[in-house]
Amino acid sequence: MKRLEIIGGGPAGAGAALAARGHYDRIIVYEAQDRLAAKPCGRGIPVLGDIGYEPPRSVVYHRIRRAIMYVDGELLFELRDVFNGYIVDKTGFLEGAFASAGAEVVYGAKYNPGLGRVRVGGSSIEPSPGSALFAGGHPYYTGEKILAIQYRLATSHFDDADHLEIYFDTGILGYYYVFPAEPGTVDVGVGGFMDYKGLKTRLDRFIEQDERLRDAKRLKLEGARIAAGGIAYGRIGGLEKIGEAAGYVLPLTGEGIRPSMLSGMAAAKSLAAGGDPRRGMEEEWITRAIKVQRRILEAVKGMEPKERRSLLKGLTPRVHAEVALGRLDKGVIARELASKPRLALRLLKLLG
Ligand SMILES: Cc1cc2nc3c(=O)[nH]c(=O)nc-3n(C[C@H](O)[C@H](O)[C@H](O)COP(=O)(O)OP(=O)(O)OC[C@H]3O[C@@H](n4cnc5c(N)ncnc54)[C@H](O)[C@@H]3O)c2cc1C
Repeated sequence: MKRLEIIGGGPAGAGAALAARGHYDRIIVYEAQDRLAAKPCGRGIPVLGDIGYEPPRSVVYHRIRRAIMYVDGELLFELRDVFNGYIVDKTGFLEGAFASAGAEVVYGAKYNPGLGRVRVGGSSIEPSPGSALFAGGHPYYTGEKILAIQYRLATSHFDDADHLEIYFDTGILGYYYVFPAEPGTVDVGVGGFMDYKGLKTRLDRFIEQDERLRDAKRLKLEGARIAAGGIAYGRIGGLEKIGEAAGYVLPLTGEGIRPSMLSGMAAAKSLAAGGDPRRGMEEEWITRAIKVQRRILEAVKGMEPKERRSLLKGLTPRVHAEVALGRLDKGVIARELASKPRLALRLLKLLG
């Protein structure tokens, strides 16, 4: 009997399970918590064409068709047609993905990397590197991380929203986001290169300054680290890391659900074919996108806020989308920036 064991029931584990469907007799997911998606998240995902699993309507809170972008309080533009996605009930989304993969999820099953074992009920299991993957998320990531924190606010102002709002703050090399959430609520957060106290002060001020948000009841405040340092492969207890644990987050945007799923799929496909899971991930298109975004982030880190602002303002909406979503089509970028050859050259050089 051929079985695949996956440590961690997040998007990376879900991607691995979806790709493993049909290749294994049993797919078993060991999840430390007693529910999926316990970690805070904005829950925004682009259409998942590459993954071949779209969220069922029952888990979609909002269909997203636009993104409105601001830089340092000034309207940059509205992205239409190029941004297409969802805000999902992440727990339901992941449960649906595991069910569709025919995977069994075992809750309260924490893998102990030191012992290389998972305790399940009274017994203990030792997953083996040839048939197991590690998808434990950001705590196991060894590269640079940033902090993101978010409030859930009670307001029905965004109940019919079909858009995301992004407010770049060049001072913290990050952004505030306003993402519609379940009916009667909205998630307002910030992520950037700053400590908790600094981020919270700025987020409170951001909310105070917005008349739609300032009087809304604050239901909860939560936060977590996000991998921003790019790809960092490795093993935990001998098992190959996939997803955010291996750096599968787009460093400029913090988008981690789709990249983690893609890495899990690539690793599981490779493993099922008797190959090296890392090789599978290396060859996946999102890997290049993460590397390029990390190079851009490095370049932007070395700039003054004023220069960052002029860069953000100099790019066309289409180029913003190419970079943010990781498609990075050189032809599109060259065409869009034809009237700004110096900027085009600089960006194309970072694309490699
Ligand atoms: C505030 C915030 C907002 C975000 N918003 C977005 C967004 O809108 N869109 C987006 O695409 N990304 C967003 N992200 C990033 C995204 O949440 C993550 O990158 C993504 O969930 C990573 O998927 P993963 O499966 O690799 O890890 P995780 O989602 O962290 O899943 C790991 C799972 O493994 C389990 N686990 C951990 N250790 C063990 C162990 N030892 N044994 C067993 N199980 C274990 C955990 O309980 C967890 O369920 C956000 C992140 C933060 C912090």
